[in-house]
Amino acid sequence: MIIAIDGPAGSGKSTIADLLADRFGYTKLDTGAMYRTVAHVCATRGIDLDDEPAVTSVADALDIVFDRRPDRMHVLADGTDVTTEIRTPATDRIVSKVSAYPGVRTAMLGCQRAFATGRDVVAEGRDIGTVVFPDADLKVFLTADPRERARRRVLQRHPDGAPDDKTMKREVAETLADLERRDELDAHRAVAPLRAADDAIRIDSTAHTIDEIVDQIISLANARRQA
Ligand code: C5P
Repeated sequence: MIIAIDGPAGSGKSTIADLLADRFGYTKLDTGAMYRTVAHVCATRGIDLDDEPAVTSVADALDIVFDRRPDRMHVLADGTDVTTEIRTPATDRIVSKVSAYPGVRTAMLGCQRAFATGRDVVAEGRDIGTVVFPDADLKVFLTADPRERARRRVLQRHPDGAPDDKTMKREVAETLADLERRDELDAHRAVAPLRAADDAIRIDSTAHTIDEIVDQIISLANARRQA
């Protein structure tokens, strides 16, 4: 079975996909991590991100491996652990440029489909239900109010507790600006833009807890599994 979870940045896709994968014993495929890895590797190699052919060659040749370890899922790029680096604000700033290149998307698409061959998968991203797995058994498009998405992202970065009010306000404002900029780029690119598939179930998580959303999706998935 393939469960597709799409939606804008910070809508809770990753946390929700993790919980669903654990609950069903499926493998999670984090496609955003793949685009982030391409962007990060290009930056570390000093590649001009406006040079589309050069960026595309990196994506074509890159070996991206997900390695589940006791602490969390690690991402390896040609054998180097990039798990932390791909989540920095520096990568946030460049990833949407790289992910808009058609050749980069073709390279990632091949890896994503190969990853899912013969497996039950919860895949999360922007184009899972529309392009990567258009025949997915269940498609969910998750949204949430942008300010709430930014607030959740900031809290995720402070696992030991929220910062003081002033810092929180500043970080939420900065994160909101980044999320809105990325959503704009992701939703308006020519190839595989961020969009809900026609047959996706839209869920707005603004006023709900993660557990409530997960329970809702589990019920939907169980209904599909029994169908
Ligand atoms: O999901 P995450 O926020 O980690 O994704 C980072 C970026 O990767 C997105 O802003 C988007 O540019 C790109 N992406 C994409 N298609 C996907 C998943 C992510 O273009 N399926």
